[in-house]
Amino acid sequence: MDKISNSQTGKLLVISGPSGSGKGTLTRALIERTGAVLSISATTRQPGPGEINGKDYYFLTKAEFEAKIAAGELLEYAVVFDNYYGTPAGPVNDMLQAGKTVVLEIDVQGALQVFENTQAARGVLILPPSDQELRRRLISRGRDESRVIEKRLEKARWEIETARNSGKYAIEIVNDDLETAISELLAFADAG
Ligand code: 5GP
Repeated sequence: MDKISNSQTGKLLVISGPSGSGKGTLTRALIERTGAVLSISATTRQPGPGEINGKDYYFLTKAEFEAKIAAGELLEYAVVFDNYYGTPAGPVNDMLQAGKTVVLEIDVQGALQVFENTQAARGVLILPPSDQELRRRLISRGRDESRVIEKRLEKARWEIETARNSGKYAIEIVNDDLETAISELLAFADAG
């Protein structure tokens, strides 16, 4: 069943891209510069430094997350880097019905579920300028050890390929120059 009701009036934008593509920065710019609102995901991963429950994510135990799956409360969910991530359906429906543009910043596995369930969703794929640049960005942010970086690069290649092969993303934005990429995203969000 369609988890998003047909009486919605707002737009649903799905933004995906590998870590290091800059999708977080682009999504923040979209939220700050327009009236769009960001859906807060649930996850079983541990909060990072400075992350706040209910603001960055809803941090849940595995049992709590699985209860939400069983209750059909998630619009989509996926296992990413060994943890569950998912989008609570209720708030998304409420915001769409209030006429808001709702943004989901989610991985490709989850995005494909949303495209399947929700005709009106439009997907944006954020791409790094190159594989080398993605590696450089992942190393320079200093967050991960090299084994984890190799894992992220592998996932990045898989994600880009899966997203492209699906044919479901409405637009690809190459994040080379940030302001250019932001302009492209704003124009796309405005157009649909
Ligand atoms: P991070 O742990 O770095 O915050 O996020 C890891 C990955 O999980 C990112 O690619 C992010 O887009 C994805 N993600 C975050 N929230 C969700 C969600 O609700 N559903 C899905 N499928 N992926 C998510």
